[in-house]
Amino acid sequence: MSAHGTAPGDRHRPTGGSVAPAERAAELTAALGRARERLADACVAAGRARDDVDLVVVTKFFPASDVRVLAGLGVTDVGENRHQEAEAKAAELADLDLSWHFIGGLQSNKASAVAAYSAVVESVDRPKLVGPLDRGAERRGRPLDVLVQVSLDPPGAEGRAGVGPEALPALADRVAQAEHLRLRGLMAVAPPAEDPAVAFERLARLRERLLAQHPAATVLSAGMSGDLEQAVAAGATHVRLGSAVLGSRPTVQ
Ligand SMILES: *Cc1c(COP(=O)(O)O)cnc(C)c1O
Repeated sequence: MSAHGTAPGDRHRPTGGSVAPAERAAELTAALGRARERLADACVAAGRARDDVDLVVVTKFFPASDVRVLAGLGVTDVGENRHQEAEAKAAELADLDLSWHFIGGLQSNKASAVAAYSAVVESVDRPKLVGPLDRGAERRGRPLDVLVQVSLDPPGAEGRAGVGPEALPALADRVAQAEHLRLRGLMAVAPPAEDPAVAFERLARLRERLLAQHPAATVLSAGMSGDLEQAVAAGATHVRLGSAVLGSRPTVQ
C-alpha cells in the first residue's frame, strides 16, 4: 500500500464476510473514494485527463454482495481471475449492467465458457486460446474484446504469466485475424523484483510497436493497488485495483 490513507485491508481482516452489511458498505464507499482520488491525483501528476483512465475493480475472493455495493457506487467494470467464481458472480448479478474483465490464467478447455459472460478477456497469452475464445464469442453472438497479456519478467522467470515480448507480434496477429475477436490492446503485471516504473516503460515501448501494426489496439491495462501511479505515468488506459478497494485477500491464492 502507498501512503494514501488506510484501506480496509490494513486491518488484516479476511474477506469481510462476517461484517454487518451496513458497515461493509461504508467501508467500501470510503475505500473506493480514496482509490478514485488516488487515480485522479495520478492523472494530474502524469498530465493526463482523468477520463483517459478507466478503473477496473478486481473483486476476486470477495462476495457478490460486495460487487453489488460497488455497482451502486458507480463501478461499471469488475475483474475476476477464476472461471467458476466469475461465472457464478456474473449469473448472480445479471440484473446489473456490469462489464466483466477476465484477468486470470485461462485453460483452453474453459476459454469458450469464459467468453459467454466476459466483456473483455485480458489474459490471452498463447495461440491455443484463440480458437476456443473465437468459438465462444461466435456462440454468444457478439464479438469479444481481447487483450494480449505480455510478460515483463526476465526470460525464464518462474511463474511467468504472459507471452514473451518476442512472441507478442505473432499472437496479436492471430487474435486480430479471429473473426469474432477484437484485439483491443495489452495487459501486463509489473514483476515483483523490479521498479514498476522501469517495467512499465518497457511495456509502453511494446505498446507503441503493437499500435504500429494494429492501430485500434489502444487499450493498456496496467497498474494495480501498489503501482497505479507508475502505470498511469506510462500511459495505462485501465488500472486494475483489488486490495485498495476491497481490502486484503486471504493469503492462499
Ligand atoms: C489480483 C489482481 C489484480 C489486483 O491486485 P491488487 O494488488 O489487489 O490491486 C490486478 N491484476 C491482476 C492480473 C490480478 O490478478
